[in-house]
Amino acid sequence: MIKIENLTKRFGEAAIFSHLDLSIEKGEIVVVIGPSGTGKSTLLRCINFLETANQGKITIGDVTVDSEQAAKSDILALRRKTGFVFQNYALFAHLTAKQNIAEGLVTVKGWKKEEANQRAQQILDDIGLGDKGDHYPAALSGGQQQRVGIGRAMALEAELLLFDEPTSALDPEWVGEVLTLMQKLATRHQTMLVVTHEMQFAREVANRVIFMADGEFVEQGTPEQIFSNPNDPRLKKFLNKVG
Ligand code: ATP
Ligand code: MG
Repeated sequence: MIKIENLTKRFGEAAIFSHLDLSIEKGEIVVVIGPSGTGKSTLLRCINFLETANQGKITIGDVTVDSEQAAKSDILALRRKTGFVFQNYALFAHLTAKQNIAEGLVTVKGWKKEEANQRAQQILDDIGLGDKGDHYPAALSGGQQQRVGIGRAMALEAELLLFDEPTSALDPEWVGEVLTLMQKLATRHQTMLVVTHEMQFAREVANRVIFMADGEFVEQGTPEQIFSNPNDPRLKKFLNKVG
């Protein structure tokens, strides 16, 4: 069970969002959509403390961290329960695909290098890159790099995977393979919170879609409700623009 309570974030005087609440069930796929600059990335970053919110509590499983009095050890415990997939992959350029995946198992989970490499090879096989383990990121396509980015998050077996526009930096030809991998994770009931502009993915894979605008969760529901029966004028306008 994942719970976000009363989350408030300001940058200086500017309030990005205030008093947000969100619960996510185990295995649920929640997709957040909304216009640029509305706080979607900031929300994801506050959930795993890449940013610290001004107020609010985050609970993942048995760990709860209060943004206002977050001890470093608690933040680390919470972070271990999440995996983050970045728009720009954020792979280590000087490590091979396999090393990128194995790295977290050694540094975060304390595995022996050999075990970590074995597990990394299994993950590479799983994401369809079994023969690319020795390649450096620069020798991989954008889609392959992002699959390694997802593989790295998968290796840690996190309770919650956070995706921040995982396909928006990709050439169109590579988008499909990344979405297919995410769909595969969804069928395994991996809990995911996904920010994306891929409306087709949201329609097909999400259990719940949240429309965020002006720092608020304006409307949420099943893909059917959000896409076929939107209520709020801001959502209608957004869907007209993107769809
Ligand atoms: P996009 O769809 O373009 O990625 P977003 O919904 O992810 O947008 P955020 O990146 O969360 O939006 O940004 C929300 C607001 O917070 C924006 O106005 C942005 O300029 C501001 N912001 C984000 N990061 C910082 C920062 N480190 N310092 C100051 N302002 C910031
Ligand atoms: Mg963003």
